Amino acid sequence: MVGHVSLPLPSTLSPSKVSAFKDCALAFRFAAIDRLPEPPSLWTAKGTLVHRALERLFAHIPVGARTVDAALAQLDLARPEVLTGPEYAALGLDGEAEAELAADAAQLVRNYFELEDPNQVNTIGLELTLEARLGTLRLRGIVDRLDVGPDGELIIVDYKTGRAPGIAYEQQKLGGVHFYAYLCEQMLGRRPARVQLLHLREPVVIESIPTDQSIRGLAVRAAAVWAAVERACQFDDFRPKPGRLCDYCAFKAYCPAFGGDPALAVTAGTAGKTALQPVPA
Ligand code: SF4
Repeated sequence: MVGHVSLPLPSTLSPSKVSAFKDCALAFRFAAIDRLPEPPSLWTAKGTLVHRALERLFAHIPVGARTVDAALAQLDLARPEVLTGPEYAALGLDGEAEAELAADAAQLVRNYFELEDPNQVNTIGLELTLEARLGTLRLRGIVDRLDVGPDGELIIVDYKTGRAPGIAYEQQKLGGVHFYAYLCEQMLGRRPARVQLLHLREPVVIESIPTDQSIRGLAVRAAAVWAAVERACQFDDFRPKPGRLCDYCAFKAYCPAFGGDPALAVTAGTAGKTALQPVPA
């Protein structure tokens, strides 16, 4: 009988890794353990561009001057930085495709102003990395903004450039919210009063108020997911979970559910080969 080889544990757990593991354990393994490069997509490029424009707005434009035009000017400045940078240059956008992407990104930036007035916002952190320990586990997350509200309370703000989640999905996505609240409480010694998800597409704000119960629940769930990751690594047992996410999965070529061989992913990942080409759905 051939013995199995334990896989190395990922070093940290983030909200996106938690949901990736729950969505499909095998896709999680490809991304977090084999470290297969994921090809860039228009979707993520647009999200990065909008995030960067809003980050620049708060970093470079003083209160009182944060207008729609100022934000769009920051978007223009962010455009070459993001789209010709190392992460997205491989997209190889032609002029028309880039203009289309930039126009949609501009609409998302305009929509942002329907949700709040950035001149009324007191931000103390941008793209802030929060880390905390939970037993042997290191939890890590990056929040788009940390604000101080009118009463001195902390508010975590996260921009979302995709569609707002439906009811069934909402609880799962709000799990990430409590994750950030936990990290904030552990690292800064204060629980945020609110966590706000600014969905720029609709636009709509989804707000959550962390409580003792929600933070405890998060700690229990994160520990459970970590135990499941440890078990899966120990026995090299990451199973595919075919579903609608397969249409967007960058690792389909290696997935046994689609006739692929996961063993090839190990070589591709550790050898640091060039990015996988997306497999047509
Ligand atoms: S194609 Fe589907 S089942 Fe296979 S790894 Fe990707 S998400 Fe999982």
